[in-house]
Amino acid sequence: MLNKQRILVVEDESGIADTIQYVLATDGFAPVWCSTAEAALREFAAQPPALAILDVGLPDLNGFELFKRLQALPGGAQVPMLFLTARSDEIDRVVGLELGADDYIAKPFSPRELVARVRTILRRSARPAATAPVTTPAPAAQPFALDEERHRIRYYGHALELSRYEYGILRLLVQKPGRVFTRDELLARVWDGGSDSFDRTVDAHIKTLRAKLKAVAPDLEPIRTLRGSGYALSEELPPKRA
Ligand code: CA
Repeated sequence: MLNKQRILVVEDESGIADTIQYVLATDGFAPVWCSTAEAALREFAAQPPALAILDVGLPDLNGFELFKRLQALPGGAQVPMLFLTARSDEIDRVVGLELGADDYIAKPFSPRELVARVRTILRRSARPAATAPVTTPAPAAQPFALDEERHRIRYYGHALELSRYEYGILRLLVQKPGRVFTRDELLARVWDGGSDSFDRTVDAHIKTLRAKLKAVAPDLEPIRTLRGSGYALSEELPPKRA
């Protein structure tokens, strides 16, 4: 890579901003820090970055509003954006993807995870077919087809018989292949934050889900376990069964 990719970091807490800038720079990116939405709008308008990381809680404008304004700038719709959120109700808004943001990271986060996420998003958005945010069912050529209205998921053409929670988990994974979901996130988003649930609950449902997927394609493992962090849908699945 000849030119370092510019990453706009919009974060009002300088400690967090320093950490983010440090890991990005270490990884070969060129971070540009703005502590307010106003500065970010100016910076973005002058030169759209390769990717923008937006804190939701900013002093002058919330991150969601900033996201909309950035998107409206020339070239803005093509720039992937990643939210930093500290509260679960914010996460719900991002996750609803009503905004079409590319991803989010919940605070506190591991700097390594942030960089990994940035890399994944940039890789994904570099593919010509994947520039639009994934909010709709996977294309027919994909292994998974999501039917949100019927709460059904097809896997290589087979309609899966899923429990409510299995459906909820798989739906999230399918919408963002490669994206890692922690157990806490899955609990919060699939179980509506049910406080009587435990990590083991997620693991148990993943186990039954895997068995159902295995019944369709015994040689594939579509759900990856990332030790200590969570689960993700494999990005390596063949589009069609041989
Ligand atoms: Ca903040």
